[in-house]
Amino acid sequence: MSMKILEIENLDICFNLEDGSHQAVYNVSLALEQGKTHALVGESGCGKSITAMSILNLLPKTAHITGGTITFNERNLLDLSEKEMQKIRGSQIALIPQDPLTSLNPLYTIGNQLVEILQLHQNLNKEDAKKKAIEALNLVKIPSAENCFNSYPHELSGGMKQRAIIAMALACNAKVIIADEPTTALDVTIQAQIMNLLDEIKTKYGTSILLITHDLALVSQYADEVSVMYAGRIVEHAPVKEFFLDTNHPYSTALLRALPTSKAKKLASIKGQPPTLRENIEGCKFYPRCSYCLPQICNSQVPELKEVAYNHYSACHLN
Ligand code: SF4
Repeated sequence: MSMKILEIENLDICFNLEDGSHQAVYNVSLALEQGKTHALVGESGCGKSITAMSILNLLPKTAHITGGTITFNERNLLDLSEKEMQKIRGSQIALIPQDPLTSLNPLYTIGNQLVEILQLHQNLNKEDAKKKAIEALNLVKIPSAENCFNSYPHELSGGMKQRAIIAMALACNAKVIIADEPTTALDVTIQAQIMNLLDEIKTKYGTSILLITHDLALVSQYADEVSVMYAGRIVEHAPVKEFFLDTNHPYSTALLRALPTSKAKKLASIKGQPPTLRENIEGCKFYPRCSYCLPQICNSQVPELKEVAYNHYSACHLN
């Protein structure tokens, strides 16, 4: 039986900008099952990264959570103090960012950083922490773990830096990894190696992964469940196989049509642009771009997320 390890329920996030408060995330709910990858997909600015960062309480100063809960280990993370969050961040819930240099300190060697995090979270002495750090670097298949241990971040390639960050998560036995566009900055071969490594960790250690991506090809290959976000709302959620076999929401369908296939002569693009934070669109926020828009309904009523098949939800007035 699957077990929920982390659950976001009815999350609302607003940004306080100079011209007032603007809602960026609306009533978002999603669950991470143990040993599964849940992909959160959408175009940039749709609210997927801000949703992920809210789990770690790493929102920018202008953003604040105005509603909802984030449950991990039977506790609402939103009720915890910064001190309590520091114990969870990096140890039980780890972040693999798009740019590894935002997680690595350029002034310290990889070894120093690993030893420090292990001493902080696992109460190990320096010698045991070093042993465990090298073990972790070997586990993520860094070719010369000892060399990497003594290297500064700038001496490593992008792929090796990502492996070092994954090693930190592994060394601390993180239960959840938030991978925020983890391979965007890497070339295609390294991209596959990093995604395969995350997949192996999931299977071997039962780690749950929240994969933030705009890349549906990655989702089809590596995720178990997918939630599609548009303009701050989840518009479709389904198990990955069901999603690719029987996509329901017009936005998801448009995203799939924009995927390159060997047969496609020309890629279909989605007309128009997603709305900005300041644009106040009534009803379904996708209506200005939707080919199936229903007059007088779609531009005035927000569609509810409804179950359209077993564990498959979609927010569209056509259902
Ligand atoms: Fe298109 Fe209307 Fe469905 Fe929105 S609710 S996706 S505008 S058909």
